[in-house]
Amino acid sequence: MEHLIFVCPATGREIDSGVGSEIGTLLRIRQQNMRALCPACGAWHTWPVRDAFLAKAARHPLGTDSHIA
Ligand SMILES: [Zn+2]
Repeated sequence: MEHLIFVCPATGREIDSGVGSEIGTLLRIRQQNMRALCPACGAWHTWPVRDAFLAKAARHPLGTDSHIA
C-alpha cells in the first residue's frame, strides 16, 4: 500500500492525503483528480493524481521514471 503525498499550494508543505492505494490502481487513476482536506491549511484542495508523490518514493512524482542506483 502506497500513500499519496501532495504539496499544499497555500503553505508549500507536503501533506499525506491519507489516501492509500496500490501502485497498479494509482497508475489507472493518474489521469484523474484527487480531492482531500488539507491538514496544513484546513482547506480542500484538488490535485491531479499524476502530481502526487508516493510516500515510499518521496520527491519523485508519479510517472517519473527514476531509478535508484
Ligand atoms: Zn493546504
